[in-house]
Amino acid sequence: MAFDIDMIKQVYSNVAERVDAARKITGKPLTLAEKILYSHLWGGNPTKAFTRGKDYVDFAPDRIALQDATAQMALLQFMQAGKSKVAVPTTTHCDHLIQAKNGASSDLQTALNTSNEVFNFLESVSNKYGLGFWKPGAGIIHQVVLENYAFPGGMMIGTDSHTVNAGGLGMVAIGVGGADAVDVMAGMAWELKFPKLIGVKLTGKLSGWTAPKDVILKVADILTVKGGTGAIVEYFGPGATSMSCTGKGTICNMGAEIGATTSTFGYDDSMERYLRATDRDDVADAANEVKDYLTGDAEVYANPEQYFDQVIEINLSELSPLLNGPFTPDLSTKAGSDMTAAANKNDWPLKVEWGLIGSCTNSSYEDLSRASSIAQQAIDKGLKTKAEFGINPGSEQVRYTAERDGILGVFEKLDATIFTNACGPCIGQWARYSDPANAPKNSIIHSFNRNFAKRADGNPNTHAFVASPEMVAAVAIAGRLDFNPITDKLINENGEEVMLDEPTGWELPPKGFEVKDDGFIAPEEDGSHVQVAVKEDSERLQLLTPFVPLGDTITGAKLLIKAFGKCTTDHISMAGPWLRFRGHLDNIANNTLIGAVNAFNKKTNFVKNQLTGEYDAVPATQRAYKKAGIKTIVVGDHNYGEGSSREHAAMQPRHLGVAAVLVKSFARIHETNLKKQGMLGLTFANEYDYDLIQEDDTFNFLDLNEFAPDKPLKIEAVHADGTKDLIVANHTYNQSQIDWYNEGSALNLIKKENA
Ligand code: SF4
Repeated sequence: MAFDIDMIKQVYSNVAERVDAARKITGKPLTLAEKILYSHLWGGNPTKAFTRGKDYVDFAPDRIALQDATAQMALLQFMQAGKSKVAVPTTTHCDHLIQAKNGASSDLQTALNTSNEVFNFLESVSNKYGLGFWKPGAGIIHQVVLENYAFPGGMMIGTDSHTVNAGGLGMVAIGVGGADAVDVMAGMAWELKFPKLIGVKLTGKLSGWTAPKDVILKVADILTVKGGTGAIVEYFGPGATSMSCTGKGTICNMGAEIGATTSTFGYDDSMERYLRATDRDDVADAANEVKDYLTGDAEVYANPEQYFDQVIEINLSELSPLLNGPFTPDLSTKAGSDMTAAANKNDWPLKVEWGLIGSCTNSSYEDLSRASSIAQQAIDKGLKTKAEFGINPGSEQVRYTAERDGILGVFEKLDATIFTNACGPCIGQWARYSDPANAPKNSIIHSFNRNFAKRADGNPNTHAFVASPEMVAAVAIAGRLDFNPITDKLINENGEEVMLDEPTGWELPPKGFEVKDDGFIAPEEDGSHVQVAVKEDSERLQLLTPFVPLGDTITGAKLLIKAFGKCTTDHISMAGPWLRFRGHLDNIANNTLIGAVNAFNKKTNFVKNQLTGEYDAVPATQRAYKKAGIKTIVVGDHNYGEGSSREHAAMQPRHLGVAAVLVKSFARIHETNLKKQGMLGLTFANEYDYDLIQEDDTFNFLDLNEFAPDKPLKIEAVHADGTKDLIVANHTYNQSQIDWYNEGSALNLIKKENA
């Protein structure tokens, strides 16, 4: 157990003054999201009102969480910052690198064998710099955060998109890229565009077969995968307070599937019960003292249309169990005959082969207990399950308690495989097939959040449907996608017709939570003596060396690639098999821009090496320029760098020697990432100048020595025939960002300031 009650009390000691000030400044009552945002401004008390969807604002998050896949580069960068400790409470969670195959004990051992080097690195860095470390098998980051760290009214960031899960305990919790997390760990502010606000009013009450999962499946149906973009979704109303805290977590978790910045709920009795059940009476007591500041103002909830940018109302009493999918989480179909019709129309296999319960979305004690009440009925009523079961408990605490209470035993009687308390099948770490690319068409149902093609098992023909844990259990028992437990009968082993009763369960364990080893390793008070071991010949990890400043003279730079059309962070730094190199900059750099389309031949990963005149892969060509001491530039189209916030997409070109990226327009986060890595991120003042760039061009920066805010740069493009074009390049660097450039990177500057 490890939560920081002093930090929480500090937050609560300021909340009244800051929220009252914000109410005054904005001249209106406040939503919960606004209260949390305005009480976490960098620099303290609010002094101005911000425009939603427009103003970029600096915030001071209370806490950071890192998962093992993204933590590697984040921590390698943090090591460059010259700090002895993280500035904000931070934890590292080992959950993504554990495959699901034969069951928890052997799978965990396999992960330790294959990724021990990475786990050891994360543990030693955490110990050295004061981060809490949750070892492999301790649980999935977001369940562990909910159980230990989330607190009402708090703000956290995490290097995983489902960080938003902590909204179930009344936080504003947001997924970010590693570079953002590093800034905050190093004591800098975190910038976010002040979000728009979507209010979801929940009336009525869930009953029978409906569950919190159906609420978010319905919201996804209404808003679609893009409907929440740039917005915080705030749930309120009697339906909200009637749900459990972990149920609220499920709803917030899948807010990521509608593109929302985050989702949240106001502090209520269910949160207090959860805090007390998870051994945090002191947090509950402290929260009770500032209760009114931890939920939206009554006037907001009474007249939501006036205060939110968009309002949705859902009557929980009218909701029915939904299955969302396949291949997208926003395609809702009602269980039963609607599904029969949809499956027949779309040729979805009706036979269900697996039912998977777990992931960070639905792996609470309540989820497992309600699903097991259905599984128990299969045993009691003589039903033979038609599909296989796989269970991923969310944390060791949940697993231990569920085992103690006989919940896991029920599933085991149905021959379920209990996988490690980790992500497993949710992130393609499910070793279901030896050759997934050629595996057969089939349907599965799971309680996870994402169901894109190949997400679970790598098989593009797996049709994955998302549902509540209790519906997953029922459908897996029936073995049919269109089974409706409310109306349909099943035939048991004696040939009798039986029906499944409504699920029952416990919001919280009646005998309390219990765990022998929760998997937490606290850092030493003084970690300065800890050695961080990275083998010289490691292919997974590589210590970073500070980037050398590019300087104020760039002449003779060659064109590496003129990218045509869409060039996302995936095109710049592909995921998939490259994930294993996320902690090794030089190795992962071998995927740099291999997905970008060369404007001159419309091929990917095939560019001209101006030194030899030959065509080669982008990374090989760039390495040849680097070897010859020649800087390069990348030219791109609109919205260059859209997609994820992964900093690798900036670090890799920087590492290989690309000096500038000149495009028609940038995705903002990628532009910032380029600046943080000490590169030039520039846009054509006249976007048609993109057409002037030729394959054999050489570039001279004419006035880089006068690099200043709001002053465009002049670049001379020298063509192969000796003719020249003058390109005017705009930029958005402010003075501090120019300082990053001058020092070689933002981290270099932090380090210098700390020296
Ligand atoms: Fe991400 Fe799935 Fe792991 Fe949750 S369980 S953190 S969604 S991979």
